[in-house]
Amino acid sequence: MSHAPHARPDCIFCQIAAGRAPAARIAESAHALAFMDLFPAAEGHALVIPKRHYENLFEADVETLPDVHLLARRVALAMRRALSLEGLMVFQLNGAAAGQTVFHYHAHLLPRSGGSPLTIHGRQKADPAKLAELAARIAAALDDA
Ligand code: AMP
Ligand code: ZN
Repeated sequence: MSHAPHARPDCIFCQIAAGRAPAARIAESAHALAFMDLFPAAEGHALVIPKRHYENLFEADVETLPDVHLLARRVALAMRRALSLEGLMVFQLNGAAAGQTVFHYHAHLLPRSGGSPLTIHGRQKADPAKLAELAARIAAALDDA
């Protein structure tokens, strides 16, 4: 099967970007895609990736990196509107030593509420129907900006 020049066939996020693996998609822009995290650390946990493969911040392609974070902001605003969001943590891990488990750059958008323990990785796979419902709610609250 053909794939984009920078795609890695064995990379799950490249597969999601190419539509070859399932994901509860929220929004996309020219160079970025947002979808729900399959193992959420909190309800509403979302990820934003560049469509082009690069592993981490050190390797990032500066042409598409701003697009990833502009989409992250647009989705964050929609999450604030659609979910009863108290706080939002945005984070991005670089290298296994930092806890990175998927080696395709991504920003996490993790809803936080007062007093909740700081957990960055969920342990349980979410119900795909629930993720699709959350993605649709957030997508419906997106601005055009
Ligand atoms: P990190 O540890 O920063 O590399 O985070 C990788 C994130 O990707 C974790 O929060 C995982 O739950 C999430 N994840 C792994 N596989 C998938 C997938 N197929 N669809 C959505 N999220 C995924
Ligand atoms: Zn990739």
